[in-house]
Amino acid sequence: MEWAIGVDLGGTKMQFAAIDRQGRIGHRHRVPTNAKAGPQQVMDRMLEGIGRMMAAVGPGESVVGIGIGSAGQIDWRNGEVVYAGDTLPGWTGTPIRRLAEERFGKRTHVDNDVNAAAVAEKLYGAGRECDSFVCLTLGTGIGGAVFEGGRLVRGAYGGAGELGHVPVDFNGPRCGCGNNGCIELYASGPGIARLGLEALEAADARDRPAWEPTAGDIVRAWLAGDAAAARVMDTALRALGAAVAGYIHAFNPQAVVIGGGVPEAAGPAFLEALNREVRSRTTPGMSGACRIRAASLGADAGVVGAGALVWDCGESRQEHWR
Ligand SMILES: [Zn+2]
Repeated sequence: MEWAIGVDLGGTKMQFAAIDRQGRIGHRHRVPTNAKAGPQQVMDRMLEGIGRMMAAVGPGESVVGIGIGSAGQIDWRNGEVVYAGDTLPGWTGTPIRRLAEERFGKRTHVDNDVNAAAVAEKLYGAGRECDSFVCLTLGTGIGGAVFEGGRLVRGAYGGAGELGHVPVDFNGPRCGCGNNGCIELYASGPGIARLGLEALEAADARDRPAWEPTAGDIVRAWLAGDAAAARVMDTALRALGAAVAGYIHAFNPQAVVIGGGVPEAAGPAFLEALNREVRSRTTPGMSGACRIRAASLGADAGVVGAGALVWDCGESRQEHWR
């Protein structure tokens, strides 16, 4: 039996798993990231977690390699962090691949966490029959990844696919990236909460809605038929529809695969509404060929995809292995 060790490093938690070639999880482990403790501590915890997974693999079985999906912009060729923001303070510049290889002597692949999740959807999930598709994750932020001809589109420095920072209103609120009106400010969890807060502040004291301005509360109220929540979700869905229409015109994909906490909480009604919005904003030749579908691997996509980086190394990854 051969295993790949996958690591999904996010701002709040680190997940570890041993996965087989079919993407099935054999062993798993999870710890808080404790990002505030600094990069050295985060790296130590990660190496410790990998060691624990290696020890969990039974005698007569082997670990073929290690795959790590990390938040931030990652140079997938040398496995270093090009840039990580406030999610992982001080993480920029960390030579993740070198440190993991020195410790374990196993071939190690490092990529952006959203790219890793998209690899999982490509190999085992909603992107399986697609060579060209776009992945979107709507959660704390909006992550994106683009596949073209069966390969991830990476750009010159590994940063391609930052679809959350495509603006839908150039006069909109300021985004952390420096631009205004990025889609992340409207259709991520915090984006929906922000729209909800605006609606609450504008509402008359008498007909103030009963929900709190959190994405979870707003989505629940929307599904229950609350009119004020419906107006908030309508704004979020129009913004998202405009952005997805833009991705479809840019990449002419076979599918747009949408995952993350927001669509998971909102269910099929969310994708149906988004689909209508996108159809009204795209040329028939583009939208007719493109399916909007739910991601199928849920919260495991990141860690399974990280492990799958080891199996998916037939392409250009191989060339960069010394
Ligand atoms: Zn932005």
